[in-house]
Amino acid sequence: PMTTVHEYVFSKLDKWPTKTAVVCGVTKRKYTYEEVYRLSKIFGANLRSKFKIKDGDTVAIILPNSPEFPIAVYGTMTAGGIVTTMNPVYTPYELQRQIDSSGAKLIVTHPDIVPNVKKALELAKKDIQIIAMNFEKPAPVGTISFKDLIDEVHIDLTVLNEVKRSHEDVALLMYSSGTTGLPKPAELSHFNVVANCCQQDTELRQYSYTTESHQDTTLVVLPMFHAYAFSLQMLHKMSAGLQLVTLPKFQPESFLNTLLNYKIDLMYLAPPMILYLGSYSEVKPKHLEHVKLMLSGAAPLPSADIQKMFDKAQRNFPFRQGYGMTEGGPLVTIMPTDIENYESVGYLLPNMKARVIDSHFNNLGPDEVGELLIKGPNVMKQYKDNPEANKESFVDGWYKTGDLAKVNDEGLVWIVDRLKELIKVKGFQVPPAELEAVIKEHPDVFDVAVMGIPDRVTGEAPKAFVILKQGATVTDEQLISFVSNKVASYKKIKQVQFVDSIPKNPSGKILRKVLKEMYLN
Ligand code: ATP
Ligand code: MG
Repeated sequence: PMTTVHEYVFSKLDKWPTKTAVVCGVTKRKYTYEEVYRLSKIFGANLRSKFKIKDGDTVAIILPNSPEFPIAVYGTMTAGGIVTTMNPVYTPYELQRQIDSSGAKLIVTHPDIVPNVKKALELAKKDIQIIAMNFEKPAPVGTISFKDLIDEVHIDLTVLNEVKRSHEDVALLMYSSGTTGLPKPAELSHFNVVANCCQQDTELRQYSYTTESHQDTTLVVLPMFHAYAFSLQMLHKMSAGLQLVTLPKFQPESFLNTLLNYKIDLMYLAPPMILYLGSYSEVKPKHLEHVKLMLSGAAPLPSADIQKMFDKAQRNFPFRQGYGMTEGGPLVTIMPTDIENYESVGYLLPNMKARVIDSHFNNLGPDEVGELLIKGPNVMKQYKDNPEANKESFVDGWYKTGDLAKVNDEGLVWIVDRLKELIKVKGFQVPPAELEAVIKEHPDVFDVAVMGIPDRVTGEAPKAFVILKQGATVTDEQLISFVSNKVASYKKIKQVQFVDSIPKNPSGKILRKVLKEMYLN
């Protein structure tokens, strides 16, 4: 794919110019495909002429999911800039770190976030202009109005003719989630990003078995600043002419209403939302009536949670898992829609290679568990300004995922857990995700996180933090023996602690560092 991201996304624009591209599920504010294209160009021309953005300059987009999110992204790329995204709920301190490390020259944000951005800029001792995405509110003092910029009619678009960006240039500086350490900025070229969209295309095309895919509507409730929704929904689905319905955050009532009002048929979710759909009484079969295909990714998904959701829906609809990472553009594997398997994350995408290795870099055979290494056109070139992380993550051109996996003789992949999160019991390594899946099978358990605690005899031992269902009566001893009956003896749970909440990030990853601070220190 020798093209840039925005050219790729709009390459089939003439097929659906007047279709709604993106609508906010709450305010109903919306744009057609033609409008997104036109407004991106106007925004891009403004970036070049008024804000002096040059080829290769970085623009920080700090926005909740909204119909303007793609305009800010495509506009920046049209102007020759590099997009970097940041979590809108970050503290000033966290924002400052990424504003510094990304080298952002300009910030696009929401009026409500402006105070935090200003504090972050004070901490960074930087004077960077702020564009405020002001649709329901005026642009705060000291910021420039996004609405005014894109409403401009008399703007000279010829400045865009100066832009020279090739497919090899960086398009996206996207931060990993920071589950195992600080978030790391992955440099993804236009080629990497478009390659991943093309790979998704060949694999996901099969889902459109009843209608043309561009008739479908997808709900964007996972954060668009993260690689998953950014690529699989915003880029890939907009290239295929679908309607995107955005929600600024996961809020049960608006989530369920949106499923009904927009007849959402293609769903991209993370494990906590699947748990929600299967466990809350307000969820009714009608809410899941339109689903044609649901995908889950970003974190391990216990199979008990899928079954609960099907029970709730009173039907089994097509459900698949995918696996990926920010550095992989992000999608790496996906289960094709014609294979019904909920546990495996499917096959590698086209043009990718994988190895599973032991700790001495020897290749392992089918069904053997080891670290997954990948190669492919979608894999990032490098982390920005981080030679140590680059050295640690790349070996002979292979990217080390840090994930434990096994691949069967047909090429189906299972993700076992993260290498860094394994609990070391005597000489054995115990994956917390496996124990979490077993504990989830207990009918009294609502949610669970497992982590290692120091143990005098075995070095480490697994401890489970359990949220019980309302009215549940199971004791810690009963849960411990429930697990003992199902796993090898070295994997036994040593302790159970009943808790009210389990810290997770927006894409459903258990934050074990926070868990430790909350309950162990
Ligand atoms: P950091 O690299 O900063 O510690 P992170 O790895 O959580 O954070 P992301 O790039 O958002 O940041 O997440 C990628 C990781 O998510 C994968 O390496 C894998 O551990 C996990 N993951 C993704 N999809 C799945 C899946 N289907 N099943 C299990 N784990 C998954
Ligand atoms: Mg990672």
